[in-house]
Amino acid sequence: MQKQPDIDLAFDQQHIWHPYTSTVAPLPCYPVTEANGVYLTLENGTQLIDGMSSWWSAIHGYNNPQLTAAAKTQLDKMSHVMFGGITHQPAIDLCKKLVAITPSGLDTVFLADSGSVAVEVALKIALQYWHAKGEPRAKFLTLSHGYHGDTFAAMSVTDPDNSMHSIYKGFLPQHIFADSPQCGFWDQWDENDIDDFSNKLAHNHQHIAAVILEPIVQGAGGMRLYHPTYLRRVRELCDHYGVLLIADEIAVGFGRTGKLFACEHAEISPDILCVGKALTGGYMTLSAVITQKNIADTVCSGEAGCFMHGPTFMGNPLACAVANANLELLEQNKWQQQVAAIENQLANELPHIATLEKVKQVRWLGAIGIIELHQPVDMVAIQQAFVNEGVWIRPFGRLVYIMPPYIITASQLSSLTQAIYQVLNI
Ligand SMILES: *Cc1c(COP(=O)(O)O)cnc(C)c1O
Repeated sequence: MQKQPDIDLAFDQQHIWHPYTSTVAPLPCYPVTEANGVYLTLENGTQLIDGMSSWWSAIHGYNNPQLTAAAKTQLDKMSHVMFGGITHQPAIDLCKKLVAITPSGLDTVFLADSGSVAVEVALKIALQYWHAKGEPRAKFLTLSHGYHGDTFAAMSVTDPDNSMHSIYKGFLPQHIFADSPQCGFWDQWDENDIDDFSNKLAHNHQHIAAVILEPIVQGAGGMRLYHPTYLRRVRELCDHYGVLLIADEIAVGFGRTGKLFACEHAEISPDILCVGKALTGGYMTLSAVITQKNIADTVCSGEAGCFMHGPTFMGNPLACAVANANLELLEQNKWQQQVAAIENQLANELPHIATLEKVKQVRWLGAIGIIELHQPVDMVAIQQAFVNEGVWIRPFGRLVYIMPPYIITASQLSSLTQAIYQVLNI
């Protein structure tokens, strides 16, 4: 048998951009050849326990037999066919399921290609909605420390400091940012926490098309877990002023926080919901925007006569088939016990890490564990240290965090938390 050629890391370094990585001084990349269950296999044979679920997405682990079978079956039928003037069972099955499992009132689905595009679509729906009503509105209200993606409109509602708004001055529309919630998920609710949001909405509501936020967990903008009452108050205030509410559950949808959707912690329904990341169980890119029928109908009653968006790969059958298999796995409800067990174990094991000098605070919710440090990490050194410990954990800034696949066992999860303790205890 011929030996497989080595992965060409020199080419990678010289010619390929990686996410948020310099081409001048690229950080080392670890060549992965296979992924199974909770393990990533490196080219040299090393197996790493995955703590990241490939950025919230691989919730059932890698190479899951049902998901792989669904992809193969669909591949033999058709991989893709245009969605304009054509429909197919994988998309219908998926949209039926999404309407059934998402918070009540959400019943019209737009399938898109990625999380950022889902956010673009949600914002455009809100703009077209107000345009069709004959009161055009061009502002969005959002939260500091939020993250909604890397495309232009998504960036414009993302925390200005984290997304370097200053560089894109002149291209990015100016939206309104309210103070991020200070009351943590497990804290006692403090009614003053909503004041800034409430004031900004009161003063600007005639111009605001929608509020957009990440429910309960602010992810890439700082891994902050906030109080459900904050979200409940946002819903009440949006109702009071007649402003649409967009919930971006791209990171946390499909069980990550212990509820199928994070909005359920506050028992609210948004007017528009964005999902992505875990929608296909981490197999391929697909996102969805789900809204109320009356909002969709209002959009389409306007001057344009339709919603002005239609990606080439809209409703990709292959992605829909895998998403269907993913939702079938979730319907078996094992995720609830799995996520509850992970949350319990994080509650037991993270406080020990909090005793380390470098650590400012630990926090957790569902299958998310966060260690906030006093100082930013040295990425090259810490990445190698984690790999040496046999785990895949990718920190950013002052945050070391894990969101493992739900199928992780107790001993594998302990390996992750022990590795964090070892690596931070120097
Ligand atoms: C990742 C993420 C996005 C963007 O999704 P992409 O698929 O990376 O474009 C948007 N919103 C939130 C909350 C996310 O976590």
